[in-house]
Amino acid sequence: RQEQFRALRDVESRTKDGHRVTILMNAGLMVDLPQLSESGAEGIGLFRTELQFMIASNMPKMEEQEAFYRNVLRQAAGRPVTFRTLDIGGDKVVSYFRSQEEENPALGWRAIRLSLDKPGLLRTQLRALLRASAGAELKMMLPMVTEVSEIRAVRDLMQKEVQHLSKFGHALPRKLQFGAMLEVPALLWQLDELMDEVDFVSVGSNDLFQFSMAVDRGNARVSDRFDNLGKPFLRILRDIVRAADRNKTPVTLCGEMAGKPLSAMALFGIGFRSVSMSPTAIGPVKAMLLGLEVEKLSAELNRVLDDHKSTETPRELLVNFAAAH
Ligand code: PEP
Ligand code: MG
Repeated sequence: RQEQFRALRDVESRTKDGHRVTILMNAGLMVDLPQLSESGAEGIGLFRTELQFMIASNMPKMEEQEAFYRNVLRQAAGRPVTFRTLDIGGDKVVSYFRSQEEENPALGWRAIRLSLDKPGLLRTQLRALLRASAGAELKMMLPMVTEVSEIRAVRDLMQKEVQHLSKFGHALPRKLQFGAMLEVPALLWQLDELMDEVDFVSVGSNDLFQFSMAVDRGNARVSDRFDNLGKPFLRILRDIVRAADRNKTPVTLCGEMAGKPLSAMALFGIGFRSVSMSPTAIGPVKAMLLGLEVEKLSAELNRVLDDHKSTETPRELLVNFAAAH
């Protein structure tokens, strides 16, 4: 099967009924980069920048961050890379970065909250990203956004860094794409404002599922208790795709569910056309995709999602659909 998947590497990602889909990969370290060409990913949809911080024994300096990002972009050789700003805290522990003991770290001082409270840290990272992308396109996104105002605050800092760099004669990125991760349910009621504010959004389904179902993603006792292919979560995801279509905002999903063929099938069925996953998942997802009649699936899936009385679960439908086709 490994060989079979390898043969698909250079095949264009298109459903059986002709819909083009973009398949990207998740990464975070230099060792991930060779997977770009091996897996046939079209780019990196999520680059987890905190990994450089997690494996270091001291806070990486601006120059080290810049060199790292530059290296990533060089290896990506023109394929797009979406850098996520530091997502420290919660399940992502950085030893030298002492934060106070928290009773609920997942709901605590983390990700963009921490970055905004430590503007020196954030500005250093923004500067490193801008410098590393000189003359190229910089795509970056913010983790764990809760209110649209947080995006504006980062944009202001970004503007300051741009001014600073140009004042000192540094080359700037040719183009800047600014995005937000959709991981906190409060954003679901700010979708239009959000999409007005950013160039793209990326659904972090691991955290969005954790927060919308109130189940700790790291606690095996409860993490599988509810189905991410159940009606509640699929309806949430469908609302996001609808908002993205309405606002003409590109949307990707980069959580683990994108890498499971059955879940990926559900995502295409509710309208996602861009997903990012671990590179080893790309072969199996692509094999599924090439045989998928997505319009037919969409019609059936939407019928189940809209039917308040039916006891058929979306998962049952998906399993049956997969078996029948
Ligand atoms: C997510 O939450 O789905 C996500 C992609 O980010 P991470 O797994 O790094 O929290
Ligand atoms: Mg997350």
